[in-house]
Amino acid sequence: MEFESVLGARCPVCGRDLDAPGLCRRCRSELHARRWQNLVYLGGYRKWRGAVRALKFKGGRRLVAPLADALAEGVREAGWALDAVTAVPTTWWRALVRGYNPAELLGRRIAERLELPFVRAVARRYTPSQTRRRRDERARMKAGTFFLQRELEHRRWLLVDDVWTTGATFRAVERVLRAGGAEAVYGAVIAARQDGDW
Ligand SMILES: [Zn+2]
Repeated sequence: MEFESVLGARCPVCGRDLDAPGLCRRCRSELHARRWQNLVYLGGYRKWRGAVRALKFKGGRRLVAPLADALAEGVREAGWALDAVTAVPTTWWRALVRGYNPAELLGRRIAERLELPFVRAVARRYTPSQTRRRRDERARMKAGTFFLQRELEHRRWLLVDDVWTTGATFRAVERVLRAGGAEAVYGAVIAARQDGDW
């Protein structure tokens, strides 16, 4: 089958034999959203990093529906009043190489499930690799990395990304949205470090 040739016959999360497209049935049954403050997530990075990685490859598209549906359910349970959904943007060249932005795929599916519009609200400037920079320098750079792509017609946003690490990216995008008139910004990610098993 096609998914086996792309991702291998193993589940990207647990490594067991893949008995369903993209994600094994057992891992599918463990897809339950959790909540931490204004963030909905599926679990710790240690557990879900395989899914985060697999999403970045073409075959990973098969993971979008089960992951996004679980997140949408968590957002619904949270009861947040939302007007629109957006995603943390990637650079145009990364999207070009990959063919898509995983966060946007998740965001579009979540928006569909919640019957909300998906809007490309924020864009990302190209910045050189940040891995060797100091933390405070990185934080400063993040602040200038994102910019508003259009005038915001919505006030209460759900911001989607694949993973929450330091929160710097999230806060940078949130600042841009708020500067554009957003009154509330909630988050949805697959994996977060706050889970304790980071
Ligand atoms: Zn699995």
